[in-house]
Amino acid sequence: MSRFMHIVDVPEAIATAVHIAPAPVPEEIPADSAPGRVLCADVIAGEDIPGFDRSVVDGFAVRAEDTSGAGDSAPALLQCTGRVSMGEGERGLSVMHGTCVYIPTGGVLPKGANAVVMVEHTDAAGDTVLVKRPVAYGENVLLHDEDYRRGAVVLPSGRRLSPQDAGVLAACGRTSVIVAKQPVIGIISTGNELVPVTATPGPGQVRDANAAMLAAYLREYGCTPRLYGIVRDEQESFGIALSQALPECDVVLLSGGSSKDDRDMTGSVIAGRGTVLVHGITIAPGKPTIIGTIDNKPVIGLPGHPASAYVVLLVIVRPLLSRMLGEKKPHLQTTKATLGDSIPSQKGREEYVRVRLEEGIAYPIFGKSGLLNTLVRSDGLVCIPAGCEGLEKGSTVDVILW
Ligand code: AMP
Ligand code: MG
Repeated sequence: MSRFMHIVDVPEAIATAVHIAPAPVPEEIPADSAPGRVLCADVIAGEDIPGFDRSVVDGFAVRAEDTSGAGDSAPALLQCTGRVSMGEGERGLSVMHGTCVYIPTGGVLPKGANAVVMVEHTDAAGDTVLVKRPVAYGENVLLHDEDYRRGAVVLPSGRRLSPQDAGVLAACGRTSVIVAKQPVIGIISTGNELVPVTATPGPGQVRDANAAMLAAYLREYGCTPRLYGIVRDEQESFGIALSQALPECDVVLLSGGSSKDDRDMTGSVIAGRGTVLVHGITIAPGKPTIIGTIDNKPVIGLPGHPASAYVVLLVIVRPLLSRMLGEKKPHLQTTKATLGDSIPSQKGREEYVRVRLEEGIAYPIFGKSGLLNTLVRSDGLVCIPAGCEGLEKGSTVDVILW
């Protein structure tokens, strides 16, 4: 049944994958383990940050107008009336016309002051400070709500938290955050020829490379991979593995057996237990890909060739994961480069060519999708759109970085 229909283009395949993605599930976790996770609720500033007007230099708190016209030959003379101490409030210090107060970096700006003169631009003569440069109103001062105003969104829902964000959370006094639960993704490798990593392959056998590769990517993306080993190309073995994986996982990925040959089980097994929505995508490599659901859970059949599986993982599965995490911006790095060689392509399919980057030049690495070395030698992918017959050497391209 499934083998006669459901060929779609890449945008439709992505739309289908995103459509069947379960909604993000929120959970509260400690802030120190939050980097890398995706926020499921806005983080709001509970107070103004930094909370008080402060100096950003070591110097003298002044009234800016008292320094106008000051220079080396005609310094402004101000009476120093005190010192601001770090970590203490105003302590009654104030700056009036003709006076100044010594202030260290981060000190509270005293009442009456509206700017700070850098100590390098002054000379001292007893209690008198000679100011040799004018300062403008607000110069060298950080206002009490200049970083964040109370009630402002500090970090929006849908943001993947970075190490810098951990610093902001700490500054806001947050010890926990609400993030999307890490989706559990089942991985089933299929093929009579596959043996585990620990085995020495016999004639016609290969080690299961896909499970390790998929798991590593998923982990890096913020999911929890769960491996279900290798199944033989038999309906029954597929059924047993799926029955085990489905209740334990949010999504199940099968690799191999996704073509339309009679020996390829993935399509018929999904069709038998659920629904095949897509069977075949106009993408290269990766055409024999299946998108389906069983018990309302996404079940994806990836091609067996490791390079094809990886391209489909990035192009089609990643948006599904992104939706499950509630990500607002795709977690995908790209860079502009100049193409170092022309790439021919067939119209009617979206082609992803591995490229090696060297000083801003992207050199295509042409190789069969069964080869692992092309994945390792390359830095990313260049997409040739479906309507395009190739890209000329010298053209500017976006490289999707691994
Ligand atoms: P299939 O998609 O099952 O037709 O497999 C296509 C090619 O990919 C075959 O050469 C398989 O041996 C190879 N292959 C399938 N699954 C894996 C895997 N898990 N690791 C490495 N190669 C695989
Ligand atoms: Mg196979």
